[in-house]
Amino acid sequence: MGNWDQLRDRLDGSLVTRDDEGFEEARAVFNSAILTSPLAIARCASVEDVRRSLRYARDAGLPLAVRSGGHSVAGASLVADGLVIDMRGLNSVTVDPAARTATVGGGAIWAEFDRACQPHALAATGGRVSTTGVGGLTLGGGSGWFERKMGLACDNLLSVDLVTAAGELVTASDTENPDLFWALHGGGGNFGVATSFTFRLHPLAACSIALLLWPSEHGPAIARRWRDLMLDAPDEVGGGLAYLTGPPEDFVGELMGKRCAGAIMTRMGTAEELRTAIAPLLALSPQVELVMDIPYADMQCMIDDPPGMRNYWSAEYLADLPDAALDVFCAAGEDMMSPSPSQLLLLPWGSAVVRNAGMSAMANRDAPWVVHPFGLWEDAADDERGRVWAREACAGLREWSTGATYLNFIGDEGADRVVAGFGAHYPKLAAIKALYDPDNVFNLWHNVQPAMA
Ligand SMILES: Cc1cc2nc3c(=O)[nH]c(=O)nc-3n(C[C@H](O)[C@H](O)[C@H](O)COP(=O)(O)OP(=O)(O)OC[C@H]3O[C@@H](n4cnc5c(N)ncnc54)[C@H](O)[C@@H]3O)c2cc1C
Repeated sequence: MGNWDQLRDRLDGSLVTRDDEGFEEARAVFNSAILTSPLAIARCASVEDVRRSLRYARDAGLPLAVRSGGHSVAGASLVADGLVIDMRGLNSVTVDPAARTATVGGGAIWAEFDRACQPHALAATGGRVSTTGVGGLTLGGGSGWFERKMGLACDNLLSVDLVTAAGELVTASDTENPDLFWALHGGGGNFGVATSFTFRLHPLAACSIALLLWPSEHGPAIARRWRDLMLDAPDEVGGGLAYLTGPPEDFVGELMGKRCAGAIMTRMGTAEELRTAIAPLLALSPQVELVMDIPYADMQCMIDDPPGMRNYWSAEYLADLPDAALDVFCAAGEDMMSPSPSQLLLLPWGSAVVRNAGMSAMANRDAPWVVHPFGLWEDAADDERGRVWAREACAGLREWSTGATYLNFIGDEGADRVVAGFGAHYPKLAAIKALYDPDNVFNLWHNVQPAMA
Protein backbone atom coordinates (compact mmCIF):
# COMPACT_ATOMS: atom_id res chain seq x y z
CA MET A 1 0.00 0.00 0.00
CA GLY A 2 1.47 3.33 -1.00
CA ASN A 3 1.72 6.49 1.04
CA TRP A 4 -1.12 8.06 -0.90
CA ASP A 5 -0.79 11.53 0.63
CA GLN A 6 2.48 11.93 -1.26
CA LEU A 7 0.62 11.61 -4.53
CA ARG A 8 -2.56 13.35 -3.37
CA ASP A 9 -0.64 16.48 -2.36
CA ARG A 10 1.00 16.75 -5.76
CA LEU A 11 -2.12 16.39 -7.93
CA ASP A 12 -4.01 19.27 -9.54
CA GLY A 13 -6.94 16.85 -9.56
CA SER A 14 -7.85 14.47 -6.75
CA LEU A 15 -7.10 10.99 -5.48
CA VAL A 16 -9.72 8.50 -4.31
CA THR A 17 -8.47 5.49 -2.40
CA ARG A 18 -10.35 2.31 -1.58
CA ASP A 19 -11.16 3.72 1.86
CA ASP A 20 -12.51 7.05 0.62
CA GLU A 21 -16.13 8.00 0.16
CA GLY A 22 -17.03 8.01 -3.54
CA PHE A 23 -14.61 5.19 -4.37
CA GLU A 24 -17.28 2.86 -5.75
CA GLU A 25 -18.73 5.61 -7.94
CA ALA A 26 -15.26 6.45 -9.28
CA ARG A 27 -14.45 2.76 -9.84
CA ALA A 28 -17.66 1.69 -11.62
CA VAL A 29 -17.30 0.89 -15.33
CA PHE A 30 -19.88 0.25 -18.07
CA ASN A 31 -19.85 -3.53 -17.60
CA SER A 32 -21.36 -4.00 -14.14
CA ALA A 33 -20.00 -7.56 -13.98
CA ILE A 34 -16.48 -6.12 -13.57
CA LEU A 35 -15.69 -5.76 -9.88
CA THR A 36 -11.91 -5.31 -10.10
CA SER A 37 -10.81 -3.17 -7.18
CA PRO A 38 -7.77 -0.90 -7.55
CA LEU A 39 -6.06 0.58 -4.50
CA ALA A 40 -6.58 4.13 -5.74
CA ILE A 41 -7.86 6.24 -8.62
CA ALA A 42 -5.98 9.39 -9.63
CA ARG A 43 -8.52 11.77 -11.12
CA CYS A 44 -6.12 13.69 -13.32
CA ALA A 45 -6.81 17.33 -14.12
CA SER A 46 -3.68 18.05 -16.14
CA VAL A 47 -0.99 16.42 -18.22
CA GLU A 48 1.37 16.88 -15.27
CA ASP A 49 -1.07 14.84 -13.14
CA VAL A 50 -0.75 12.00 -15.62
CA ARG A 51 3.04 12.14 -15.37
CA ARG A 52 2.99 12.39 -11.56
CA SER A 53 0.64 9.42 -11.25
CA LEU A 54 2.64 7.33 -13.65
CA ARG A 55 5.91 8.14 -11.88
CA TYR A 56 4.36 7.41 -8.48
CA ALA A 57 3.03 4.01 -9.56
CA ARG A 58 6.28 3.03 -11.23
CA ASP A 59 8.40 4.07 -8.21
CA ALA A 60 6.07 2.16 -5.88
CA GLY A 61 6.05 -0.90 -8.16
CA LEU A 62 2.27 -0.71 -8.53
CA PRO A 63 0.40 -1.98 -11.61
CA LEU A 64 -1.31 0.72 -13.66
CA ALA A 65 -4.53 1.09 -15.63
CA VAL A 66 -5.66 3.95 -17.87
CA ARG A 67 -9.32 4.89 -17.92
CA SER A 68 -11.31 7.15 -20.21
CA GLY A 69 -14.91 6.19 -21.08
CA GLY A 70 -14.75 2.98 -19.00
CA HIS A 71 -16.38 0.95 -21.81
CA SER A 72 -13.86 -1.89 -22.13
CA VAL A 73 -15.97 -5.02 -21.73
CA ALA A 74 -13.09 -6.88 -20.10
CA GLY A 75 -12.52 -4.07 -17.60
CA ALA A 76 -9.13 -3.09 -19.05
CA SER A 77 -9.45 0.33 -17.42
CA LEU A 78 -9.23 -1.13 -13.91
CA VAL A 79 -6.39 -3.02 -12.26
CA ALA A 80 -6.53 -5.08 -9.08
CA ASP A 81 -4.46 -3.61 -6.23
CA GLY A 82 -2.95 -0.92 -8.44
CA LEU A 83 -3.42 2.69 -9.51
CA VAL A 84 -5.92 3.88 -12.12
CA ILE A 85 -5.01 6.96 -14.15
CA ASP A 86 -8.49 8.40 -14.65
CA MET A 87 -8.48 10.69 -17.69
CA ARG A 88 -12.08 11.91 -17.48
CA GLY A 89 -11.03 15.34 -16.21
CA LEU A 90 -9.08 15.98 -19.43
CA ASN A 91 -12.17 16.36 -21.59
CA SER A 92 -11.88 19.75 -23.27
CA VAL A 93 -12.74 19.96 -26.97
CA THR A 94 -11.52 22.86 -29.12
CA VAL A 95 -12.76 23.14 -32.68
CA ASP A 96 -11.01 25.17 -35.37
CA PRO A 97 -13.73 25.49 -38.01
CA ALA A 98 -11.47 27.17 -40.56
CA ALA A 99 -8.83 24.43 -40.39
CA ARG A 100 -11.54 21.77 -39.91
CA THR A 101 -9.79 20.24 -36.93
CA ALA A 102 -10.72 19.39 -33.34
CA THR A 103 -8.32 18.95 -30.45
CA VAL A 104 -9.72 16.86 -27.66
CA GLY A 105 -8.48 15.82 -24.24
CA GLY A 106 -7.55 12.17 -23.75
CA GLY A 107 -10.48 11.54 -21.39
CA ALA A 108 -13.39 13.01 -23.38
CA ILE A 109 -16.35 10.92 -24.50
CA TRP A 110 -17.86 11.09 -27.99
CA ALA A 111 -20.93 13.04 -26.82
CA GLU A 112 -18.63 15.89 -25.79
CA PHE A 113 -16.73 15.73 -29.08
CA ASP A 114 -19.85 15.60 -31.30
CA ARG A 115 -21.64 18.42 -29.45
CA ALA A 116 -18.63 20.72 -29.88
CA CYS A 117 -18.34 19.99 -33.62
CA GLN A 118 -22.05 20.20 -34.43
CA PRO A 119 -22.47 24.03 -34.48
CA HIS A 120 -19.87 24.11 -37.26
CA ALA A 121 -21.58 21.39 -39.35
CA LEU A 122 -18.42 19.32 -38.95
CA ALA A 123 -17.98 15.76 -37.72
CA ALA A 124 -15.64 12.79 -37.53
CA THR A 125 -16.34 9.10 -37.15
CA GLY A 126 -16.99 8.16 -33.52
CA GLY A 127 -18.60 4.98 -32.21
CA ARG A 128 -22.26 4.09 -32.62
CA VAL A 129 -23.14 5.39 -29.16
CA SER A 130 -22.16 8.65 -27.48
CA THR A 131 -20.89 7.34 -24.15
CA THR A 132 -17.70 5.55 -25.23
CA GLY A 133 -14.37 7.25 -24.64
CA VAL A 134 -12.62 8.99 -27.53
CA GLY A 135 -9.36 7.54 -26.12
CA GLY A 136 -10.08 3.82 -26.03
CA LEU A 137 -12.23 3.77 -29.14
CA THR A 138 -9.83 5.74 -31.36
CA LEU A 139 -6.65 3.98 -30.25
CA GLY A 140 -8.33 0.63 -30.95
CA GLY A 141 -9.40 1.73 -34.47
CA GLY A 142 -12.86 3.22 -34.05
CA SER A 143 -15.75 1.90 -36.10
CA GLY A 144 -18.83 4.10 -36.58
CA TRP A 145 -21.83 4.81 -38.82
CA PHE A 146 -20.00 7.02 -41.33
CA GLU A 147 -16.72 5.07 -41.53
CA ARG A 148 -17.35 4.06 -45.17
CA LYS A 149 -17.00 7.72 -46.14
CA MET A 150 -14.97 9.34 -43.32
CA GLY A 151 -12.78 6.35 -42.44
CA LEU A 152 -12.35 4.84 -39.00
CA ALA A 153 -11.90 7.20 -36.03
CA CYS A 154 -8.12 6.61 -36.07
CA ASP A 155 -7.94 7.48 -39.78
CA ASN A 156 -8.84 11.08 -38.93
CA LEU A 157 -6.01 11.53 -36.43
CA LEU A 158 -3.59 14.36 -37.24
CA SER A 159 -1.56 14.06 -34.06
CA VAL A 160 -1.54 12.54 -30.58
CA ASP A 161 0.23 13.82 -27.44
CA LEU A 162 1.25 10.87 -25.32
CA VAL A 163 2.99 10.25 -22.01
CA THR A 164 5.31 7.27 -22.46
CA ALA A 165 6.11 4.61 -19.88
CA ALA A 166 9.25 6.63 -19.01
CA GLY A 167 7.05 9.63 -18.21
CA GLU A 168 8.10 11.66 -21.26
CA LEU A 169 5.53 13.73 -23.13
CA VAL A 170 5.90 13.14 -26.87
CA THR A 171 3.93 14.13 -29.93
CA ALA A 172 3.16 11.57 -32.59
CA SER A 173 2.18 12.67 -36.09
CA ASP A 174 3.16 12.06 -39.69
CA THR A 175 6.30 14.12 -39.11
CA GLU A 176 7.11 13.49 -35.42
CA ASN A 177 7.63 9.93 -34.19
CA PRO A 178 5.82 8.56 -37.26
CA ASP A 179 6.23 4.91 -36.24
CA LEU A 180 4.52 5.60 -32.93
CA PHE A 181 1.80 7.50 -34.81
CA TRP A 182 1.23 4.48 -37.04
CA ALA A 183 1.00 2.21 -33.96
CA LEU A 184 -1.62 4.48 -32.38
CA HIS A 185 -3.91 3.76 -35.35
CA GLY A 186 -5.37 0.57 -33.89
CA GLY A 187 -2.59 -0.56 -31.55
CA GLY A 188 -4.72 0.49 -28.58
CA GLY A 189 -3.51 1.47 -25.13
CA ASN A 190 -0.22 -0.42 -25.49
CA PHE A 191 2.10 2.56 -25.95
CA GLY A 192 1.38 5.16 -23.28
CA VAL A 193 -1.26 7.57 -22.01
CA ALA A 194 -2.74 9.78 -24.74
CA THR A 195 -3.38 13.19 -23.21
CA SER A 196 -4.67 14.89 -26.36
CA PHE A 197 -5.81 13.97 -29.87
CA THR A 198 -6.13 16.27 -32.89
CA PHE A 199 -8.62 15.08 -35.51
CA ARG A 200 -9.38 16.10 -39.07
CA LEU A 201 -13.10 16.95 -39.38
CA HIS A 202 -15.44 16.43 -42.33
CA PRO A 203 -18.24 18.72 -43.49
CA LEU A 204 -21.66 17.26 -42.65
CA ALA A 205 -24.44 19.46 -43.96
CA ALA A 206 -27.21 16.92 -43.39
CA CYS A 207 -27.58 13.65 -41.55
CA SER A 208 -30.39 11.10 -41.39
CA ILE A 209 -31.23 7.78 -39.79
CA ALA A 210 -33.75 5.01 -40.34
CA LEU A 211 -34.90 2.45 -37.82
CA LEU A 212 -36.77 -0.37 -39.53
CA LEU A 213 -38.19 -3.30 -37.56
CA TRP A 214 -40.01 -6.50 -38.43
CA PRO A 215 -41.07 -9.48 -36.31
CA SER A 216 -37.99 -11.67 -36.09
CA GLU A 217 -39.35 -14.48 -38.27
CA HIS A 218 -38.87 -12.19 -41.29
CA GLY A 219 -35.13 -12.06 -40.54
CA PRO A 220 -33.80 -14.27 -43.37
CA ALA A 221 -35.62 -12.29 -46.10
CA ILE A 222 -34.55 -8.95 -44.63
CA ALA A 223 -30.96 -10.13 -44.23
CA ARG A 224 -30.69 -11.06 -47.91
CA ARG A 225 -32.16 -7.74 -49.02
CA TRP A 226 -29.88 -5.79 -46.64
CA ARG A 227 -26.74 -7.57 -47.85
CA ASP A 228 -27.57 -6.97 -51.52
CA LEU A 229 -28.32 -3.33 -50.81
CA MET A 230 -25.07 -2.76 -48.92
CA LEU A 231 -22.99 -4.37 -51.67
CA ASP A 232 -23.94 -1.49 -54.00
CA ALA A 233 -24.58 1.31 -51.50
CA PRO A 234 -22.76 4.63 -51.90
CA ASP A 235 -20.09 5.39 -49.30
CA GLU A 236 -22.39 7.96 -47.67
CA VAL A 237 -24.74 5.16 -46.59
CA GLY A 238 -23.93 3.27 -43.42
CA GLY A 239 -25.88 0.95 -41.26
CA GLY A 240 -26.25 -2.43 -39.71
CA LEU A 241 -28.48 -5.44 -39.77
CA ALA A 242 -29.64 -6.19 -36.23
CA TYR A 243 -31.57 -8.52 -34.03
CA LEU A 244 -32.83 -6.63 -30.98
CA THR A 245 -35.73 -6.33 -28.59
CA GLY A 246 -38.26 -3.67 -29.67
CA PRO A 247 -37.35 -0.61 -27.53
CA PRO A 248 -39.87 0.94 -25.11
CA GLU A 249 -40.88 3.82 -27.41
CA ASP A 250 -44.44 4.64 -28.50
CA PHE A 251 -43.54 4.51 -32.19
CA VAL A 252 -42.51 0.84 -31.78
CA GLY A 253 -46.14 -0.14 -31.11
CA GLU A 254 -46.83 -3.89 -30.92
CA LEU A 255 -43.17 -4.78 -31.39
CA MET A 256 -42.26 -3.14 -28.07
CA GLY A 257 -40.56 -5.77 -25.88
CA LYS A 258 -40.61 -8.36 -28.71
CA ARG A 259 -37.68 -9.94 -30.53
CA CYS A 260 -37.23 -8.09 -33.83
CA ALA A 261 -35.15 -8.28 -36.95
CA GLY A 262 -34.22 -4.83 -38.10
CA ALA A 263 -31.96 -2.49 -39.94
CA ILE A 264 -30.48 0.71 -38.59
CA MET A 265 -29.49 2.75 -41.65
CA THR A 266 -27.73 6.11 -41.78
CA ARG A 267 -26.86 8.61 -44.46
CA MET A 268 -24.61 11.61 -44.77
CA GLY A 269 -27.50 13.44 -46.42
CA THR A 270 -31.21 14.06 -46.03
CA ALA A 271 -33.96 11.65 -45.01
CA GLU A 272 -35.26 11.86 -48.57
CA GLU A 273 -31.89 10.70 -49.90
CA LEU A 274 -31.82 7.97 -47.28
CA ARG A 275 -35.30 6.77 -48.31
CA THR A 276 -34.10 6.49 -51.89
CA ALA A 277 -31.01 4.53 -50.82
CA ILE A 278 -32.94 2.05 -48.69
CA ALA A 279 -35.99 1.70 -50.97
CA PRO A 280 -35.45 -2.09 -51.36
CA LEU A 281 -35.75 -2.49 -47.57
CA LEU A 282 -38.78 -0.20 -47.34
CA ALA A 283 -40.42 -2.37 -50.01
CA LEU A 284 -40.44 -5.20 -47.46
CA SER A 285 -43.05 -3.22 -45.45
CA PRO A 286 -41.36 -2.84 -42.06
CA GLN A 287 -43.77 -2.83 -39.13
CA VAL A 288 -41.78 0.05 -37.64
CA GLU A 289 -40.56 2.60 -40.17
CA LEU A 290 -38.86 5.64 -38.69
CA VAL A 291 -36.85 7.64 -41.23
CA MET A 292 -35.81 11.12 -40.23
CA ASP A 293 -33.43 14.02 -40.57
CA ILE A 294 -31.45 14.38 -37.37
CA PRO A 295 -28.45 16.41 -36.15
CA TYR A 296 -25.40 14.12 -36.03
CA ALA A 297 -24.82 14.51 -32.28
CA ASP A 298 -28.45 13.51 -31.61
CA MET A 299 -28.17 10.52 -33.91
CA GLN A 300 -25.05 9.38 -32.07
CA CYS A 301 -26.96 9.03 -28.77
CA MET A 302 -30.12 7.46 -30.22
CA ILE A 303 -29.14 3.94 -29.32
CA ASP A 304 -27.08 4.64 -26.20
CA ASP A 305 -27.11 1.48 -24.11
CA PRO A 306 -28.30 1.54 -20.53
CA PRO A 307 -25.41 1.60 -18.01
CA GLY A 308 -25.31 -0.82 -15.09
CA MET A 309 -25.88 -3.99 -17.13
CA ARG A 310 -23.66 -7.06 -17.18
CA ASN A 311 -22.20 -7.62 -20.61
CA TYR A 312 -20.12 -9.83 -22.84
CA TRP A 313 -19.43 -9.40 -26.53
CA SER A 314 -17.43 -10.98 -29.28
CA ALA A 315 -16.81 -10.36 -32.97
CA GLU A 316 -15.59 -11.97 -36.15
CA TYR A 317 -14.54 -10.58 -39.52
CA LEU A 318 -16.39 -12.33 -42.34
CA ALA A 319 -14.82 -12.75 -45.78
CA ASP A 320 -18.09 -13.67 -47.44
CA LEU A 321 -21.80 -13.55 -46.72
CA PRO A 322 -23.66 -16.19 -48.71
CA ASP A 323 -27.28 -17.05 -47.87
CA ALA A 324 -26.10 -19.95 -45.69
CA ALA A 325 -24.10 -17.53 -43.51
CA LEU A 326 -27.07 -15.21 -43.22
CA ASP A 327 -29.23 -18.13 -42.08
CA VAL A 328 -26.69 -18.95 -39.34
CA PHE A 329 -26.68 -15.27 -38.34
CA CYS A 330 -30.48 -15.22 -38.14
CA ALA A 331 -30.57 -18.43 -36.09
CA ALA A 332 -28.18 -16.77 -33.60
CA GLY A 333 -30.53 -13.79 -33.53
CA GLU A 334 -33.40 -16.10 -32.60
CA ASP A 335 -31.26 -17.49 -29.73
CA MET A 336 -30.45 -14.04 -28.33
CA MET A 337 -31.67 -13.25 -24.83
CA SER A 338 -34.90 -11.31 -25.35
CA PRO A 339 -36.32 -9.20 -23.87
CA SER A 340 -32.97 -7.60 -23.04
CA PRO A 341 -30.91 -4.72 -24.46
CA SER A 342 -28.71 -7.31 -26.26
CA GLN A 343 -28.10 -6.89 -29.97
CA LEU A 344 -26.72 -9.07 -32.72
CA LEU A 345 -25.13 -6.78 -35.30
CA LEU A 346 -23.81 -7.28 -38.79
CA LEU A 347 -21.86 -4.32 -40.11
CA PRO A 348 -20.52 -3.54 -43.58
CA TRP A 349 -16.92 -2.41 -43.99
CA GLY A 350 -15.20 -1.71 -47.31
CA SER A 351 -14.96 1.76 -48.91
CA ALA A 352 -12.86 4.19 -46.81
CA VAL A 353 -12.17 1.51 -44.19
CA VAL A 354 -10.14 -0.43 -46.72
CA ARG A 355 -8.89 2.61 -48.71
CA ASN A 356 -7.17 3.96 -45.57
CA ALA A 357 -5.59 0.64 -44.57
CA GLY A 358 -2.08 1.62 -45.61
CA MET A 359 -1.58 4.22 -42.89
CA SER A 360 -2.70 2.14 -39.96
CA ALA A 361 -1.53 -0.55 -37.57
CA MET A 362 -4.99 -2.04 -37.67
CA ALA A 363 -4.75 -5.16 -39.80
CA ASN A 364 -7.43 -7.11 -41.68
CA ARG A 365 -9.27 -4.00 -42.81
CA ASP A 366 -10.19 -5.58 -46.11
CA ALA A 367 -12.77 -7.77 -44.36
CA PRO A 368 -16.08 -6.81 -45.99
CA TRP A 369 -18.32 -7.65 -43.01
CA VAL A 370 -18.10 -7.71 -39.21
CA VAL A 371 -20.44 -9.73 -37.03
CA HIS A 372 -20.78 -8.46 -33.47
CA PRO A 373 -22.92 -10.20 -30.84
CA PHE A 374 -23.39 -7.68 -28.04
CA GLY A 375 -24.93 -9.33 -24.98
CA LEU A 376 -26.33 -7.21 -22.13
CA TRP A 377 -28.34 -8.57 -19.22
CA GLU A 378 -29.21 -7.68 -15.66
CA ASP A 379 -29.03 -10.81 -13.56
CA ALA A 380 -25.77 -12.59 -12.64
CA ALA A 381 -27.66 -15.87 -12.98
CA ASP A 382 -27.71 -15.21 -16.76
CA ASP A 383 -23.91 -14.77 -17.04
CA GLU A 384 -23.17 -18.20 -18.47
CA ARG A 385 -26.09 -18.06 -20.90
CA GLY A 386 -25.11 -14.58 -22.15
CA ARG A 387 -21.47 -15.49 -22.68
CA VAL A 388 -22.18 -18.80 -24.37
CA TRP A 389 -24.62 -17.07 -26.75
CA ALA A 390 -22.05 -14.49 -27.87
CA ARG A 391 -19.31 -17.09 -28.33
CA GLU A 392 -21.57 -19.47 -30.23
CA ALA A 393 -22.90 -16.72 -32.50
CA CYS A 394 -19.31 -16.19 -33.69
CA ALA A 395 -18.37 -19.87 -33.70
CA GLY A 396 -21.32 -20.66 -35.98
CA LEU A 397 -20.02 -18.19 -38.56
CA ARG A 398 -16.37 -19.25 -38.40
CA GLU A 399 -16.66 -21.10 -41.71
CA TRP A 400 -16.91 -17.68 -43.39
CA SER A 401 -14.48 -15.88 -41.05
CA THR A 402 -11.23 -14.32 -42.25
CA GLY A 403 -9.71 -15.90 -39.11
CA ALA A 404 -9.28 -12.51 -37.44
CA THR A 405 -11.34 -10.14 -35.39
CA TYR A 406 -11.76 -6.45 -34.62
CA LEU A 407 -10.15 -6.11 -31.18
CA ASN A 408 -12.31 -3.19 -29.99
CA PHE A 409 -15.33 -5.49 -30.27
CA ILE A 410 -14.02 -8.32 -28.07
CA GLY A 411 -13.02 -8.84 -24.46
CA ASP A 412 -10.23 -11.09 -23.28
CA GLU A 413 -10.26 -14.05 -25.69
CA GLY A 414 -6.61 -15.02 -25.20
CA ALA A 415 -3.24 -14.15 -26.75
CA ASP A 416 -3.86 -16.02 -30.01
CA ARG A 417 -6.81 -13.78 -30.82
CA VAL A 418 -4.65 -10.70 -30.16
CA VAL A 419 -1.93 -11.96 -32.49
CA ALA A 420 -4.56 -12.81 -35.14
CA GLY A 421 -6.21 -9.41 -34.63
CA PHE A 422 -2.94 -7.56 -35.36
CA GLY A 423 -2.02 -10.06 -38.07
CA ALA A 424 1.03 -9.16 -40.16
CA HIS A 425 1.48 -5.93 -38.17
CA TYR A 426 2.26 -7.67 -34.87
CA PRO A 427 6.09 -7.81 -35.26
CA LYS A 428 6.31 -4.08 -36.11
CA LEU A 429 4.01 -3.24 -33.19
CA ALA A 430 6.18 -5.34 -30.88
CA ALA A 431 9.30 -3.46 -32.05
CA ILE A 432 7.63 -0.07 -31.42
CA LYS A 433 6.39 -1.32 -28.05
CA ALA A 434 10.00 -2.18 -27.11
CA LEU A 435 10.99 1.44 -27.78
CA TYR A 436 8.17 3.17 -25.90
CA ASP A 437 7.20 0.62 -23.21
CA PRO A 438 10.00 -1.95 -22.83
CA ASP A 439 8.78 -3.04 -19.38
CA ASN A 440 5.22 -3.60 -20.61
CA VAL A 441 3.70 -1.18 -18.13
CA PHE A 442 0.64 -0.72 -20.35
CA ASN A 443 -0.51 -4.30 -20.58
CA LEU A 444 -4.23 -4.45 -19.95
CA TRP A 445 -5.74 -3.76 -23.39
CA HIS A 446 -5.07 -6.53 -25.96
CA ASN A 447 -1.41 -6.74 -25.13
CA VAL A 448 1.46 -6.46 -27.59
CA GLN A 449 4.55 -7.93 -25.97
CA PRO A 450 7.71 -5.82 -26.43
CA ALA A 451 10.05 -7.42 -28.95
CA MET A 452 13.21 -8.88 -27.41
CA ALA A 453 16.35 -6.84 -28.12
C1 LIG B 1 -21.97 0.44 -25.42
C2 LIG B 1 -20.71 0.28 -26.23
C3 LIG B 1 -20.71 0.62 -27.57
C4 LIG B 1 -19.53 0.50 -28.32
N1 LIG B 1 -19.57 0.83 -29.65
C5 LIG B 1 -18.42 0.79 -30.37
C6 LIG B 1 -18.43 1.20 -31.73
O1 LIG B 1 -19.46 1.58 -32.29
N2 LIG B 1 -17.26 1.17 -32.41
C7 LIG B 1 -16.09 0.73 -31.84
O2 LIG B 1 -15.06 0.74 -32.50
N3 LIG B 1 -16.08 0.30 -30.55
C8 LIG B 1 -17.21 0.32 -29.81
N4 LIG B 1 -17.20 -0.11 -28.52
C9 LIG B 1 -15.95 -0.68 -27.98
C10 LIG B 1 -15.04 0.41 -27.47
O3 LIG B 1 -14.44 1.09 -28.54
C11 LIG B 1 -13.91 -0.17 -26.60
O4 LIG B 1 -14.46 -0.86 -25.53
C12 LIG B 1 -12.97 0.93 -26.11
O5 LIG B 1 -11.85 0.35 -25.48
C13 LIG B 1 -13.68 1.85 -25.14
O6 LIG B 1 -12.92 2.98 -24.88
P1 LIG B 1 -13.15 3.75 -23.50
O7 LIG B 1 -12.20 4.88 -23.46
O8 LIG B 1 -14.59 4.02 -23.30
O9 LIG B 1 -12.76 2.59 -22.50
P2 LIG B 1 -11.87 2.43 -21.21
O10 LIG B 1 -12.42 1.20 -20.58
O11 LIG B 1 -11.80 3.66 -20.39
O12 LIG B 1 -10.44 2.13 -21.81
C14 LIG B 1 -10.15 0.92 -22.46
C15 LIG B 1 -8.67 0.86 -22.74
O13 LIG B 1 -8.36 1.85 -23.71
C16 LIG B 1 -7.10 2.43 -23.42
N5 LIG B 1 -7.28 3.88 -23.23
C17 LIG B 1 -8.43 4.57 -23.02
N6 LIG B 1 -8.16 5.88 -22.99
C18 LIG B 1 -6.84 6.02 -23.18
C19 LIG B 1 -5.97 7.13 -23.25
N7 LIG B 1 -6.40 8.40 -23.14
N8 LIG B 1 -4.64 6.90 -23.46
C20 LIG B 1 -4.17 5.62 -23.57
N9 LIG B 1 -4.97 4.54 -23.51
C21 LIG B 1 -6.28 4.74 -23.33
C22 LIG B 1 -6.57 1.78 -22.17
O14 LIG B 1 -5.70 0.74 -22.56
C23 LIG B 1 -7.79 1.19 -21.54
O15 LIG B 1 -7.50 0.02 -20.85
C24 LIG B 1 -18.35 0.01 -27.73
C25 LIG B 1 -18.37 -0.35 -26.38
C26 LIG B 1 -19.53 -0.21 -25.63
C27 LIG B 1 -19.54 -0.61 -24.19
